Amino acid sequence: MARTILVVEDEPTLRETLVEALESDGFRVVAAADGREALAQFRGERPDLILLDLMLPELSGIEVMRIIRAESGTPIVMLTAKDSELDKVVGLELGADDYVTKPFSLRELTARIRALFRRSEAAIAVGAQPTIVDLGRVQADLGGHRLLRDGVTLPIKPKAFELLAFLLRNPGQVFTRDQLLEKVWGYDYAGETRTVDVHVHWLRSQIEEDPGNPVFIHTVRGVGYVFRRP
Ligand code: CA
Repeated sequence: MARTILVVEDEPTLRETLVEALESDGFRVVAAADGREALAQFRGERPDLILLDLMLPELSGIEVMRIIRAESGTPIVMLTAKDSELDKVVGLELGADDYVTKPFSLRELTARIRALFRRSEAAIAVGAQPTIVDLGRVQADLGGHRLLRDGVTLPIKPKAFELLAFLLRNPGQVFTRDQLLEKVWGYDYAGETRTVDVHVHWLRSQIEEDPGNPVFIHTVRGVGYVFRRP
């Protein structure tokens, strides 16, 4: 599944260059031209990484970062000008993960991005998340891609497991059916949102004590689904 990068840059030529370069690197890219649009895209698209110019109209990059950091730990790479040392320091203190100074080479930038993805994956593997998640009736073995009951592996479709693992890794976050299709099935998946409902229905039949009255995977009416610990 393609990772999504949000590019926030008000300068049109640079924004387009970044979008094209990252897309040709295999990423899914969404873009924003000012601070307000950046927040809207962040909340709507839930990107895996944000490339954030600090000098922006509407809402400064620093303000955008402050707001995003209050809501999530999504990796952020700042794009800074040479003469904005102070912004860079403030940005790093606010929780930016890395920065590049303009003008930068695309090769350097994509190397930074890949390094950040490797680090965040390593953090997950090393135990920010347990490998086996106990759900009472069943245990989800995230590393082994298995669903277990009393130590016995239950048959499960790969996509159903990926959906479960995605929800487990993002507890308390509500996702729309479209977002789940994108995150689990891939952005180019031309399926219907009903696919998500069918998989959730099946997962509930496996993990819930009473599938009609779920305690793990909840329906948020008019929005989508959320995983919560009872
Ligand atoms: Ca700018």
